[in-house]
Amino acid sequence: MENNQNKAFDKAAGILRTMNIDEICERCKCVRTEDGIEIKYFNEKYEIKLPEVSFNSSHLSQVSQLIILHYLISTGKQKTSGEVVGFRDLPGGMFYYKTYSKQGPERIVKDFGDDLDMIYSVAKSLGGEKASFGDASVRLPALPLIDVLIVLYKADDEFPHEAFVLFKNDIINYLSLKDISMLVGEIATNCKKLKQRIAAEINRTMTDNNFKFEVAARPGAGLFKRCFSCNSCTISCPISDIDENFSPRTFIRQCLLGMKEKLLSSKEIWFCTECNLCYAKCPQNVPFADIMTVFREMAVEEGYAPADMPEKTERIGEISRKLNFELINHAWKCIRKSQDPDFYKNLRMYLEQGIKELE
Ligand code: SF4
Ligand code: SF4
Repeated sequence: MENNQNKAFDKAAGILRTMNIDEICERCKCVRTEDGIEIKYFNEKYEIKLPEVSFNSSHLSQVSQLIILHYLISTGKQKTSGEVVGFRDLPGGMFYYKTYSKQGPERIVKDFGDDLDMIYSVAKSLGGEKASFGDASVRLPALPLIDVLIVLYKADDEFPHEAFVLFKNDIINYLSLKDISMLVGEIATNCKKLKQRIAAEINRTMTDNNFKFEVAARPGAGLFKRCFSCNSCTISCPISDIDENFSPRTFIRQCLLGMKEKLLSSKEIWFCTECNLCYAKCPQNVPFADIMTVFREMAVEEGYAPADMPEKTERIGEISRKLNFELINHAWKCIRKSQDPDFYKNLRMYLEQGIKELE
């Protein structure tokens, strides 16, 4: 512990020893135990033994211990509206905002701006829950009377990624601005650690280092190794245009990273129409449609997709080519203002036939 933190801890511990423990527990919504006080901090309960003022956990950081002590000895009685506000809106918040922002929100946005979904997994590990603000948001139960709301916004043409951290304005009755800043800093640190742990776990359970070699060994598929992730294929792909989850570049990345299960079990690998527009634009001449065929073969062979999926896909291709033909033919006749008595009849016939065959 830094020297200053040591001093602050000793000072807070000294104050705590002089206070009425039952009153503290009542005010701060903690539990009086035989040996001291039990308090919930995020998803865990900690016991503070008295009169020593020692925590029963060695993995709780000293900064967090100090925040908890300050919360317990708080005596603020300011009347507040209970509104949800940001740090800047708290009395004196503007003055410390820069330091606070560097300690908390800027680190959160750096770690989660590009990976909004990960904040949900991290929040769950911290005992939090999904909220419904911004592009992604979570509510974390920091202390019994203090919830922290993290709201993330994805970058757009005008603004970069942003993160806002909000709390009810009665927080000032329990924590000083410095404590709030430390608390948000602890949140940023713990979220980052959890993100790394979760990512490592996903990596451990979801990847197969041999996958790329298995794909490369199949005829026509080895050239995916040339890909340098420029994204020209995805930009030129007509399917990516209508489904943002469909991205040839991402499929190749997943293959290189060994994400076999995710890739082979995705429905998106069946969307490719093998039009080869991606190949035409690829500076590395990666024959993506051929590689996609290999992914599909492997998906069927290894039980990720039903055995009749290739046949069904082929039939859908045939039906959509007929529909395409009818629609263009009809559009042409409409332009020429000529009659087309069979249009709706044919359209209905192809659709009914197609649905029947696919059922
Ligand atoms: S265009 Fe070619 S090199 Fe670029 S990401 Fe797609 S496959 Fe890779
Ligand atoms: S071949 Fe498949 S991935 Fe490539 S542009 Fe056509 S639909 Fe998209």
